[in-house]
Amino acid sequence: MNASVTDSILAKFKEAAIKVTAQRLIIYRLMLETPGHHTADTIFKLASPLLPGLSPTTVYNVLDMLVAHKLARRIKTDSDIMRYDIVTENHHHLFADNDHQIEDYHDKALDEMLKNYFEANKIPGFTIHDIKLEIHGSYDPKSH
Ligand SMILES: [Zn+2]
Repeated sequence: MNASVTDSILAKFKEAAIKVTAQRLIIYRLMLETPGHHTADTIFKLASPLLPGLSPTTVYNVLDMLVAHKLARRIKTDSDIMRYDIVTENHHHLFADNDHQIEDYHDKALDEMLKNYFEANKIPGFTIHDIKLEIHGSYDPKSH
């Protein structure tokens, strides 16, 4: 394992007052190093060889803990399968109907436009923290 990645995870855990365990460290690290929006099942399969005796319940507990500390986010899909996303810079999600994949979509101009729109059109009594779009569609088979 690359020491600097582990160090930065340890620093994040320390900052969030998360008690360090091998399971937490390895699962979070795998999520950082394996791009995508994985299900708990996929994370379990990735982590099992590194953590003998790991149970799916432990994986769920670690994922819940990461979500509670805002280091990961849940993404609910139409098929009701929960996927997990590592929290990075603001991004939106493209949901492609034909391959059931979720991709990150980054567009700073769009973020800016949304922010400006809601600054000009405030929702009474509501403070916006974050705007994330779910963009649903399908890829043209020829272009993807
Ligand atoms: Zn994402």
